[in-house]
Amino acid sequence: MPEGGNPVIGLLGGGQLGRMLCEAANPLGIDVAILDEEKAPAKQAHDTGRHVTGSFKDPDCIRKLATVSDYLSVEIEHVETEVLEDIERNGVQVKRPDGSTAIHRPPIHPSWRTIRLIQDKYLQKEHFRTSGKGIPIADQLPVASDSASLRDVAEKFGFPFMLKARKGSYDGRGNFKVNSEADFEAAIKALGGLSLYAEKWAPFVKELAVMVIRTEDDKGNLRNCVAYPAVETVHEDSICTRVFMPPRDVPEAVCESARNLATQVISTLWGRGVFAVEMFLLEDGSLMVNEVAPRPHNSGHYTIEAVPQMSQFKAQLHAVLDLPVPATLTPRVSSAIMLNILGGATPSAHHKLVQLARSTLDDSMDVYLHLYNKASKPSRKIGHITLTGSSTIQDLQAKAKPFIDLVDEIRL
Ligand code: ATP
Ligand code: MG
Ligand code: MG
Repeated sequence: MPEGGNPVIGLLGGGQLGRMLCEAANPLGIDVAILDEEKAPAKQAHDTGRHVTGSFKDPDCIRKLATVSDYLSVEIEHVETEVLEDIERNGVQVKRPDGSTAIHRPPIHPSWRTIRLIQDKYLQKEHFRTSGKGIPIADQLPVASDSASLRDVAEKFGFPFMLKARKGSYDGRGNFKVNSEADFEAAIKALGGLSLYAEKWAPFVKELAVMVIRTEDDKGNLRNCVAYPAVETVHEDSICTRVFMPPRDVPEAVCESARNLATQVISTLWGRGVFAVEMFLLEDGSLMVNEVAPRPHNSGHYTIEAVPQMSQFKAQLHAVLDLPVPATLTPRVSSAIMLNILGGATPSAHHKLVQLARSTLDDSMDVYLHLYNKASKPSRKIGHITLTGSSTIQDLQAKAKPFIDLVDEIRL
């Protein structure tokens, strides 16, 4: 980190994750320069005049961002990595105040290697499977988008199976559940033209997620992987709608296994930062890795209020800048629920829920509303509510019922 003054982290992407990163950076005097479209949610939360307007997939814009940044990081994995690799190897040219030029090489965390690997969900999981660390994943196969290829998959995996886009997917938008041959045509219509792979259906009883802070020295030697508590994530139509900490009805030993597995997974990657490990919990108590995100994650939003000493956003700042991170991450509360506010059928469908969050004062449950100032569109993540309590997750869930009912109502 530069001596004195405010370090500048150049961030590729300026959505809600970048916005919450900025909210964590503001009191620490850390400057975030954002590359995204004008008035992106993150740019509204912080502006010291260094933002770059453009796309995080545009090499020229990424170079421009690099010239104003001491470090580079991401809030989204779907960025252009060729240019990041080139910046690491060759740097970018910057002008000194005296008019001369110099080569500037901002460290990139997490590494472009990690980002590139994670971008391709099939290769990502092959990497974990072959890492020698005993990381279980669902059986998977690359597949062409034609009926004959899908029939081959069905013979190997049976029905249902999940057809997935290898790249560019989020909130389940690249997924198609294939229940029978009758679905082939619709699956090809939905995902045809993309590079695809198929996954054997994971008959999970629950989904869990663990955030991990990964630190390493400037030579790339792993220092530590520190796991947050395991949480339960609930997805509806492949999109995360709610998160429970601790997971409901999951033995402590399983939560501990999830944390251990998550640290194993993240130890196979490169660079510093925070990572999410999404997992399936199967009937017999075993775990399977679904995918990894190389950045703050929806399942970690609860840490803003539940682990304020080191929220996932503060953790990304500390990891990137190589500032200290705690050896253990213990929540300040005994239970937390995070509810996503997803856009409903009409632009005002979520207003009742927002109003309830604004107007609730409850001695036994704290309510924290986060709106991202994004236009409402059906199923778009436009905000979230975190509820924290000092009793069990079951008690908190009972108290949160009016909130959960409204979340369900918006999705109807
Ligand atoms: P994200 O927004 O988390 O990046 P994504 O678009 O990358 O989502 P996945 O995480 O691959 O999508 O899948 C989304 C959800 O679909 C999972 O959380 C799970 O609920 C379901 N799902 C995915 N793969 C499988 C599988 N093999 N078997 C059963 N369900 C699955
Ligand atoms: Mg994903
Ligand atoms: Mg996912």
